[in-house]
Amino acid sequence: MRASIWLSVSCSCCGAVIGWYYNNAKSVSQLKKATKNWVFDKEYGNLCPECLEKLKKRRSDHHDD
Ligand SMILES: [Zn+2]
Repeated sequence: MRASIWLSVSCSCCGAVIGWYYNNAKSVSQLKKATKNWVFDKEYGNLCPECLEKLKKRRSDHHDD
């Protein structure tokens, strides 16, 4: 048996991971769906929804200064 390919998306901020082994093309689209609320930030990298909220809050707080 060949090595299984582990598909995952991890949060650069808190380290949260969503992932599973690759089975077929569906594995990729399922992962895309599971992480549809995640974003890639060019400063921080991948962010889970929770860290995205924190970052938004921090950035808006900063603008209020
Ligand atoms: Zn996170």
